[in-house]
Amino acid sequence: MNYDALIIGGGPVGNYLASLLAGKMSVAVVERKGAFGGKACTGIIGAENYESLGLPDKAILNAFKGAFFISKTKVFEIHRQVPQAYLVDRKVLERELAKRAIKRGADYYLATNFVGFKDGKAILQHLDSRFEIKAKYYVGADGVNSKVAQEIGAKTRGEVLRGWELEVLGNFRREWVEVWVNKDINPEFFFWVAPINEEEARIGTFGDVESLAKFLKVRRINPSNVLEIKSGAVVLGWRSPWVKDNVALVGDAALHIKPTTAGGIVFGSYCARALAKAILNGNLAEYEKNCSWVKEQVKFGLRIRKVFKSLTQKEIEEIFEVLGSEDARKLIIEKADFDDHVKTAKALLRNPRLLARLIRIAPIILRTLL
Ligand SMILES: Cc1cc2nc3c(=O)[nH]c(=O)nc-3n(C[C@H](O)[C@H](O)[C@H](O)COP(=O)(O)OP(=O)(O)OC[C@H]3O[C@@H](n4cnc5c(N)ncnc54)[C@H](O)[C@@H]3O)c2cc1C
Repeated sequence: MNYDALIIGGGPVGNYLASLLAGKMSVAVVERKGAFGGKACTGIIGAENYESLGLPDKAILNAFKGAFFISKTKVFEIHRQVPQAYLVDRKVLERELAKRAIKRGADYYLATNFVGFKDGKAILQHLDSRFEIKAKYYVGADGVNSKVAQEIGAKTRGEVLRGWELEVLGNFRREWVEVWVNKDINPEFFFWVAPINEEEARIGTFGDVESLAKFLKVRRINPSNVLEIKSGAVVLGWRSPWVKDNVALVGDAALHIKPTTAGGIVFGSYCARALAKAILNGNLAEYEKNCSWVKEQVKFGLRIRKVFKSLTQKEIEEIFEVLGSEDARKLIIEKADFDDHVKTAKALLRNPRLLARLIRIAPIILRTLL
């Protein structure tokens, strides 16, 4: 079998890419699983980018207009008139994107595992039979443990984190996400509480599972009200190269992941757009250049992550005091962007009063972010 493009991995990014290429060239997607969805992923996606990427409305479960930021001793809130982020159903998201691609002419091979490349062809395994596909371009959209990345000899420099996600029953304010920062419970990451509706929410963190159990106590969620438990990994850092000969990596496979939140759907989808353009122009060399926005975000996000890791809980309490002040909240409401953390941080750090207070608490901010 021959195609112009073979995409390995039918997750959100692979399916999005397939939907962009199908109809303009012959495209196939191979997906190891027999069904879409199932991955541990809260599904919080910046609303503005969700719209501008043209992701399917059908997958949206909830829309958040506000967030509570909660430390050990402080709370502040940020609220806007329009939704800032959506909570999506991953299975519906992946399936709708695949449907879009299929309607435009893409072929899907489910329950089909990519085994490796041989003589310029992809070797695939479906149940107990092996077959080959030859393509002009191959794309690894096969997630953080990418086999395609391994096959092209891509190197990884990054921090591996295990993520935990629960769906729980409780009482929630539907339009509000909660972000809890308590390093005494989890030194690795914050906790999030993302309501699906008034009585169900997705709760998660990255790090030790014990920390999540402790958080449930603090958040007063009865452990016997847990409806679902999922776990998965992310890698925060760099993987390179993204392109070797006629093979490219995209999405988690290329570590297009926001180091501050570990969200990967927006960055991966933007890079899928850049990759689609490069493939359609017949020039993979354009791809990395067209992804410069994501590169800048990852680079800066890794610096924010370094600052976060170095802070003590006492310093976090002091930073919450500053960020919860009228000045800072006004600035965040006016300027902060859910996905563009470079823009958000610049807005805060360009305010001389806020900057002076933040640097006094944690001089690492001066060394690392400016
Ligand atoms: C706990 C947790 C919470 C998260 N929450 C969010 C969030 O709220 N928002 C957000 O944006 N991101 C979140 N993420 C990250 C997000 O899940 C990823 O960034 C996103 O799934 C990346 O999509 P992808 O298509 O690149 O890769 P994946 O979703 O990993 O898809 C890769 C696909 O490739 C398939 N595959 C793998 N190997 C092969 C093979 N050899 N042959 C064939 N197929 C193969 C897999 O089965 C899979 O379907 C979270 C991650 C975790 C772990």
